[in-house]
Amino acid sequence: RAKRTGKNAAYRYASALGEAEARRATLERDVQHAATRGELTLHYQPLFDLRTRQAVKVEALLRWTHPQLGEVSPAEFIPLAEATGLIVPLGEWVMCRACTDARHLPGTLVVAVNVSPVQLEDPDFPQTVRAVLRDCGLAPGRLELELTETALMRDVARASHTLGELRALGVRVALDDFGTGHTSLSSLRDLPLDTVKIDRSFVADLRGGQGQPFTQTLLGALLQVAEVLDLEVVAEGLEDDAQLRALHALGCHVGQGYLLGRPVPLDRLLSTPWDAPGGASQERAAEVALA
Ligand code: C2E
Ligand code: MG
Ligand code: MG
Ligand code: MG
Repeated sequence: RAKRTGKNAAYRYASALGEAEARRATLERDVQHAATRGELTLHYQPLFDLRTRQAVKVEALLRWTHPQLGEVSPAEFIPLAEATGLIVPLGEWVMCRACTDARHLPGTLVVAVNVSPVQLEDPDFPQTVRAVLRDCGLAPGRLELELTETALMRDVARASHTLGELRALGVRVALDDFGTGHTSLSSLRDLPLDTVKIDRSFVADLRGGQGQPFTQTLLGALLQVAEVLDLEVVAEGLEDDAQLRALHALGCHVGQGYLLGRPVPLDRLLSTPWDAPGGASQERAAEVALA
């Protein structure tokens, strides 16, 4: 009997592997046409200045509704688009859409767009950004490009050069998911950056209280370095008041997370009052931040 269960388990394992493979193949094939078939949309998540209570940025987050499989997470399909190089035109579509949408938003709001390492390595990338800004008629200072540590650390000298070109266009540059890769505090000095986004795994550590002393110390050090380098620090993944309070106390001035506002379609964003997107929860967050 035990033998039979073992065989069934092995069979289930093999068939689950087969299903995962089949899903991957389907997604890799279908993502090629997702944009032209109108299956892609952008959602926008607000970022707040924790001192003034104002929304200061929105991050564009790609959404794909597959006709049979439903919502597919970008964490699942972006890597597939990267593997085939599709991310280059797809990323341009995202930037174009976000810059066009930004023109419907208050002029004080910056729109943040995620950029894949594959896009950054494309020698035409700065030209593409310039063309998108021109075609969409958006002031360059209203666009922030978010890059991950892996994108920058593959070839620091080259990445640094490209970031310099982007900033020369007047675009802002952010380091996303800080702390998950291999960027040291001193490499922040060598990269031309405007913003550092603390990965939500660190923010999660501050959940429900003082959190891990190590995380507190580390974030304190990051915030001190950021101040010297004149970098804006954003805390991602704020989900509770304790996290918000801890980060505010450490001197972090910008926050993003479900506590303050979830990613929503543009029309939802436009129908929310500007001084209080996220409604009641934002008010509550601001009260805590200012307490
Ligand atoms: P990211 O750039 O770090 O974006 C933040 C992710 O955290 C988003 O997930 C957002 O929905 C989620 N998030 C925001 N607040 C909270 C919170 O309080 N708690 C938790 N648990 N999560 C929160 P999403 O939209 O699933 O995107 C996942 C990742 O996919 C993004 O991480 C980004 O790396 C990538 N991505 C999304 N859109 C694009 C895109 O247009 N281009 C590229 N290259 N990558 C994208
Ligand atoms: Mg991001
Ligand atoms: Mg992030
Ligand atoms: Mg992240």
